[in-house]
Amino acid sequence: MTTPLYGQMMDVPLTVSSLLAHASRHFGTTEIVSKRIEGDVHRYTYRDCEKRAKQLAQALIALGVEMGDRIGTLAWNGYRHLETYFGTTGFGAVCHTINPRLFPDQVAWIINHADDRYVLFDITFAPLVDVLAPQCPNVLCWIAMTDEAHMPRMSTAASSYEALLAQHDGDFDWPLIDERCASNLCYTSGTTGNPKGALYSHRSSVLHAFGASLPDAMGLSARDSVLPVVPMFHVNAWGIPHAAPLTGAKLVFPGKDLDGKSLYELMEAERVTYSAGVPTVWLGLLNHVREAGVRFSSLERTVIGGSACPPAMIRMFQDTYGVEVIHAWGMTEMSPLGTLSKLTWEQTQRSPDEQRKLREKQGHAMYGVDMRIVGDDGRELPWDGVAFGDLHVRGPWVIDRYFRSDASPLVDGWFPTGDVATIDKDSFLNITDRSKDVIKSGGEWISSIDVENIAIAHPAVAEAACIACAHPKWTERPLLVVVKRPDADVTRDELLAFYKGKIAKWWIPDDVVFVDELPHTATGKLQKLKLRERFRDHVLPSALATENCPLDDEAHAKSDPS
Ligand code: ADP
Repeated sequence: MTTPLYGQMMDVPLTVSSLLAHASRHFGTTEIVSKRIEGDVHRYTYRDCEKRAKQLAQALIALGVEMGDRIGTLAWNGYRHLETYFGTTGFGAVCHTINPRLFPDQVAWIINHADDRYVLFDITFAPLVDVLAPQCPNVLCWIAMTDEAHMPRMSTAASSYEALLAQHDGDFDWPLIDERCASNLCYTSGTTGNPKGALYSHRSSVLHAFGASLPDAMGLSARDSVLPVVPMFHVNAWGIPHAAPLTGAKLVFPGKDLDGKSLYELMEAERVTYSAGVPTVWLGLLNHVREAGVRFSSLERTVIGGSACPPAMIRMFQDTYGVEVIHAWGMTEMSPLGTLSKLTWEQTQRSPDEQRKLREKQGHAMYGVDMRIVGDDGRELPWDGVAFGDLHVRGPWVIDRYFRSDASPLVDGWFPTGDVATIDKDSFLNITDRSKDVIKSGGEWISSIDVENIAIAHPAVAEAACIACAHPKWTERPLLVVVKRPDADVTRDELLAFYKGKIAKWWIPDDVVFVDELPHTATGKLQKLKLRERFRDHVLPSALATENCPLDDEAHAKSDPS
């Protein structure tokens, strides 16, 4: 056996605190601007932020919090939440961000499962805390993220965050922590079952922040003014609270006002160049700019993900407003970033139409994430843009196992994402469905996302969901459930005719039903399970007379639907 020759570079652990320490020292005067729950706008710098994060660390240590203890948060995007990101992890505690939009029983379940010692909350959530407190006996104290003057009236005994910080001076050195120690805990929103905890490490968080910042990933820079609309309670706002201090980008936090008008005004006031959020939020923003007849004077790029970004939205941002859309895919179990739709030099030489088609996909894997698609037999499928398969990923910021669960979710060392996808010869990923939502017509998969994207491109359609409906001949056929725009009208037949020539004939839904609204999860994703239950007994016209079924065997032949 030969003795390995080790490198002789400093063995400095990758800690989350080092991100803020870097920003404080090298971008000390760069601003963090927050719309506060109290109603005003708060501004300070990375240097101020680090000092207060250290005061928080001192306060929590004085309260007896130890390394590994979980500290919960129920909070909007704001400077105090950012301080919590670092004031907990900085001394080895775990920052557990909780989604307050979940049902209270589910929030209580999560707090108890995580065994949170303390929970910090924005005053908006005081009524929620009053419901939670009796169900969460192990929480030692609930801390309201405000000063004494704004303490809410509550039945629960709560402390003031500002009063706690005021007892400490911030004279504190971040300890060196083993980079494999836990830093952050996020629960999946339970779209597909009970919430499950993803416990990130310092190392995975820092590597993810590095990867996210790269120009062909999110591409953050010290020249950016970044407004994360994606909540800090949902997968760490896609890592922006870590990537912004790493790059020295200015941060702008919207607080609780996420309507189009409030976001637009904040973007303009703070010269925001970069933003990130789920499609639903951008729908509100685009509606506002269209109705108000205004334009973005500083916004250059936005990351859209969390669910499929409709091509019509990408076009609207890019063609009408000159804002680049980066379509991203990821999940809680991946910290969350996996792929982004940035083009290579060679791809930018192709026709505008080809480039547009690529940008509509979820993009290429970033360094640190490897992916594959496999068929029912577990064998890897070709990257030809046609073969659909279960998407598997692996990498240093991909989950190995869920918090407090012994069973490994991995298959041959890969994490099965629960998504179904194609990968094309450009290595671009295209998510076609959640595996639980796929529609299998005559044994062949139909991409509900593609079907929905076409419906949404119709001017009279506000939102659409495509679900499987039972069919005597094909087992399942697609049913389109549509919410119309308030000021527009369209009939079933007009909508079905709209599909002609845009999609393979056998992918066209067999029926359309109109509803007032679609069910969503706490993170804004369509709840197709609920829809399938609601329309379980829906009888498709094609099922009544299969002999007259518009779909013949020939039309249903395997073909490339694109
Ligand atoms: P959950 O909702 O399951 O708790 P996440 O919020 O982490 O978990 O969501 C992850 C899922 O969201 C992915 O597995 C995928 O189904 C969906 N998703 C995320 N981004 C995209 C995208 N750009 N296009 C399509 N689906 C997406």
